[in-house]
Amino acid sequence: MSDQPLSPASHDEARIDDAMEDDHFHDECGVFGVFEHANAGALAALGLHALQHRGQEAAGIVSFDGRQFYNERHIGLVGDNFTKQSVIDRLKGNRAIGHTRYSTTGAPVLRNVQPLYAELAGGGFAVAHNGNLTNAQTIQRQLQERGSIFQSTSDTETIIHLVAMSAKDKFVDRLIDALNQLEGAYAVVALSEKKLIGVRDPNGVRPLVLGDLDGTYVLASETCALDIIGAHYVRDIEPGEMVVITESGLVSMRPFQQSPNHSRFCIFEYVYFARPDSFFDGTNVYTVRKRIGEELARESGIDADIVVPVPDSGTPAAIGYAQEAGLPFELGIIRNHYVGRTFIQPTDNIRHMGVKLKHNANRLMLAGKRVVLVDDSIVRGTTSLKIVQMVRDAGAKEVHMRIASPPTRDSCFYGVDTPEKSKLLASRMTIEEMADYIKVDSLAFLSIDGLYRAVGEAGRNGDAPQYCDACFTSDYPTPLTDRSGTSEIRNLNRLVETS
Ligand code: SF4
Repeated sequence: MSDQPLSPASHDEARIDDAMEDDHFHDECGVFGVFEHANAGALAALGLHALQHRGQEAAGIVSFDGRQFYNERHIGLVGDNFTKQSVIDRLKGNRAIGHTRYSTTGAPVLRNVQPLYAELAGGGFAVAHNGNLTNAQTIQRQLQERGSIFQSTSDTETIIHLVAMSAKDKFVDRLIDALNQLEGAYAVVALSEKKLIGVRDPNGVRPLVLGDLDGTYVLASETCALDIIGAHYVRDIEPGEMVVITESGLVSMRPFQQSPNHSRFCIFEYVYFARPDSFFDGTNVYTVRKRIGEELARESGIDADIVVPVPDSGTPAAIGYAQEAGLPFELGIIRNHYVGRTFIQPTDNIRHMGVKLKHNANRLMLAGKRVVLVDDSIVRGTTSLKIVQMVRDAGAKEVHMRIASPPTRDSCFYGVDTPEKSKLLASRMTIEEMADYIKVDSLAFLSIDGLYRAVGEAGRNGDAPQYCDACFTSDYPTPLTDRSGTSEIRNLNRLVETS
């Protein structure tokens, strides 16, 4: 899911301030679905709670009781909106899908909050989507010329319109027909009156896993959402696979005309997006992050006294680095976990404090030390600059920055909140210039082959890479149709909503 227009997401003023404090790519959504359970609404709320790291701005659940659909969509955190019994009670029925969202443009508004729901000729249809459709605007323009009226600015609505207009008879065939016209990345859960459907795009860029809760099928973006409800992990939905779950059981299909050579799963899920306790295809994310640190130590080890993570995202890689390098691992920076995104509206005279809202130096650990500082990535460099200064102010003798991914040189068009390419530090500076900019004694990034080794490959296969790594390599696995035709695409975000 992303808001249009399709371009690397730009931030409004308030979001820039947030980004100053949290200079990362952000995954935009998590999805969840459950079929035939007496507490479907509550399970969906718990599942979304476990997926909160994939989107913090809004969340929604649609349930079905065999007669009617019920829709609860709210701006804000899952825990703030789906903990009241009255809310769960309103989500009647034993089937439900849910979505947690991180929007890309402007203020989050309710009309964009998923699951999106529509009454179609064949009955009700709800859809929740993680990813981004790279030709959604082109299709949307064609549909509008034929009379379609779009209610949201979400690319996900394009799926609903294409399903509605399909000439096929059966609902599943209509959805296949719709998805066959779309490009980009999608992990979708959809609910009709008789079916729960889960589907991944032919490249499998975004994750979707299948679980089992005492005979109840569950779909989720990550396995951590299965753990919270006590469901067993069954398997990942495969790239290009559609599973159709009915009262008769689960049917797996491979319905897509587009057939990629192989999976191009987002490698950044391993670096940063996913929760470390999640598994993809049986591989534990935390283990990969530690191996990333080990690779980093082998590739760019340096004489130092301690290894310090930039918490929390740099922690597993720093542990791996320290173990491989034989250096002490120390918490030289302490993170305040209780800073909400909207804790404060920065005014000019406190804005410079920025990063200190979230991080503070543990002086006793840092004073007089040669420090290896490990972070997952550098995006704009704004946070790195401040963190390094903080470590120096605490008395560190040397600061050597080690980054647990290759330089992020390009934008993501597959459902990740990304600054424009020109704002990415690595797109406009050499590594030496970056080191000067963030004022470190040395700076090194993990190589792309090192990253592939950490996820269990021999290295990156240049002819047929095994993952999407486009933000490091600019090798996009799908056409970027809307991007190439931007000049022809009308601005669809004319309506500014204030609530
Ligand atoms: Fe993931 Fe980067 Fe590919 Fe986006 S461009 S899907 S963040 S690897």
